Amino acid sequence: MFLNHQTDILIIGSGIGGSTMAAGLAPSGLNILILECGIQLPDSPINQDQDQIFTEQYFKPDEEWFDKDKQAFKPGNYYYVGGNSKFFGAVLARYRKEDFLEMAHEGGTSPAWPFSYEAFEPWYTRAEALFKVRGDDKFDPTEPYHSTQYPYKAIEDETAIKVVKEQLTAQGLHPYPLPLAIDIEQWRQTRKVPWDAHPHFFNGKIDAETGPLAQAIQYKNVRLQTNSKVIHLKTSPTTNRIEEVIYAHHDELQSIRPKLVILSAGAIHSAALLLRSKNQNNPEGLSNSSGMVGRNFMNHNCSAIIGFNHRYTNDAIYSKTFGINDFYLNDGAGGLPLGNIQLLGKVSGKILKSNMPFIPSFALDYFSRHSIDFYAMSEDLPSPDNRVYVEDDKINLVWERNNWSAHQKLVHKFSAILKDCGFYFVLNQPFDKRTPSHQCGTIRMGNNPKDSALDTYCRSYDHDNLYVVDASFFPSSAAVNPALTIAAQALRVSHHILSTSPF
Ligand SMILES: Cc1cc2nc3c(=O)[nH]c(=O)nc-3n(C[C@H](O)[C@H](O)[C@H](O)COP(=O)(O)OP(=O)(O)OC[C@H]3O[C@@H](n4cnc5c(N)ncnc54)[C@H](O)[C@@H]3O)c2cc1C
Repeated sequence: MFLNHQTDILIIGSGIGGSTMAAGLAPSGLNILILECGIQLPDSPINQDQDQIFTEQYFKPDEEWFDKDKQAFKPGNYYYVGGNSKFFGAVLARYRKEDFLEMAHEGGTSPAWPFSYEAFEPWYTRAEALFKVRGDDKFDPTEPYHSTQYPYKAIEDETAIKVVKEQLTAQGLHPYPLPLAIDIEQWRQTRKVPWDAHPHFFNGKIDAETGPLAQAIQYKNVRLQTNSKVIHLKTSPTTNRIEEVIYAHHDELQSIRPKLVILSAGAIHSAALLLRSKNQNNPEGLSNSSGMVGRNFMNHNCSAIIGFNHRYTNDAIYSKTFGINDFYLNDGAGGLPLGNIQLLGKVSGKILKSNMPFIPSFALDYFSRHSIDFYAMSEDLPSPDNRVYVEDDKINLVWERNNWSAHQKLVHKFSAILKDCGFYFVLNQPFDKRTPSHQCGTIRMGNNPKDSALDTYCRSYDHDNLYVVDASFFPSSAAVNPALTIAAQALRVSHHILSTSPF
């Protein structure tokens, strides 16, 4: 093993959390090293090849996790520079104001965040600027107050999408333009596929790599090192600070002594790394005196809803441009919240084939050409029994869905509306539990060190020089895409670190 270097700040992981932290900290001039276990996602024709992406699962890592029954599975979790955002749908939505408060749901109570929407709002504004979000806050009745308008105007619906939007409006709904981190002109020039779930190089999606990381590495004091998997954090026996970080660069073990560590390996890997790093002083894992590390895993309850009408022709390419929040704060009749609906992103015959291999391709192509697809998302409530733990060095993910009846109501309600719009055949399919796309909550923040691992600036209660800034810090999942909230908190935390002299 080589003890080869020191650095002021070590960031572990280059996803939304890690890259946005790097962008926020870069102007300080401090030496910042980002260790990323993956490589840069290459520019390749495979990036548009839906057989390779969905049927062959070319981009899925060769990794095994275990479920609650100890059954092995290959997770839909991605390791590239930019992390999961290389595949994301680029919907950068704010939590609703009410999501920061305690809220009753069919399946239980969603806890309050330790700060209000009003206090967090300026950081949303900055994150939207960093990710060049396109949007319009005037259409969604649940949209919270914006101190600044979106930096770019909303992306227009394609013609086939506009038709459906008008039908839904006629049903009394309030479709709104999805806030999107997409340069649509650039995307159209090089791509003939949707962006959601499709890998991205530098073609117009503003992800963690092409947005904040690209900005951060323009500074000479910031360095990204790929192929570098962190495997252990060591604490000082006297101060309990993180004093050394062990990682494998390719296959060679290396070690580094950072003054400050930002852990941003994603909600599952950050928790696993803290648990794996247990030692005599921290027998339950690092930052785990509360016992909460790995607990409260959340991932959203999600389904695809596809409406078919042979008289409707859908020639849209990307289609992911509007959402509906009419059932977000209540069920539309004063009952409890159900969740969000948004366009899924043009489910082609090839994508359908990966789920229904027994149906001939021509039939699936026909079905896709005459259908419209939506994504229904409902809140997943925190439960200590839903958790990540490490056994024999393997990741175990125990996730029992809760608040599922609210999700089913949302699916049924919206399916009925699609039928009223003329889509006489409506199919729905829950998302695979083995795809932790919206993973969060596993190292939660809070005001009380007895029941949370991080303070409200994501600093570990147990280790002075450790911050965890990725989706792990979420106290609740809301029913909103998570990336903008991770980025906004990363900007808030980096500002806090620099204004409180960290060393
Ligand atoms: C198909 C898909 C669509 C999505 N669509 C949306 C959307 O439209 N809107 C939205 O808001 N969210 C969306 N999401 C979710 C969003 O992408 C994630 O919430 C977000 O990217 C999480 O960022 P993160 O920083 O928490 O973690 P990650 O993205 O998981 O980043 C962690 C990084 O750490 C690296 N890493 C892991 N372990 C180690 C280690 N030991 N050492 C070094 N590096 C390590 C990983 O390679 C990765 O680069 C989507 C996700 C998927 C998969």
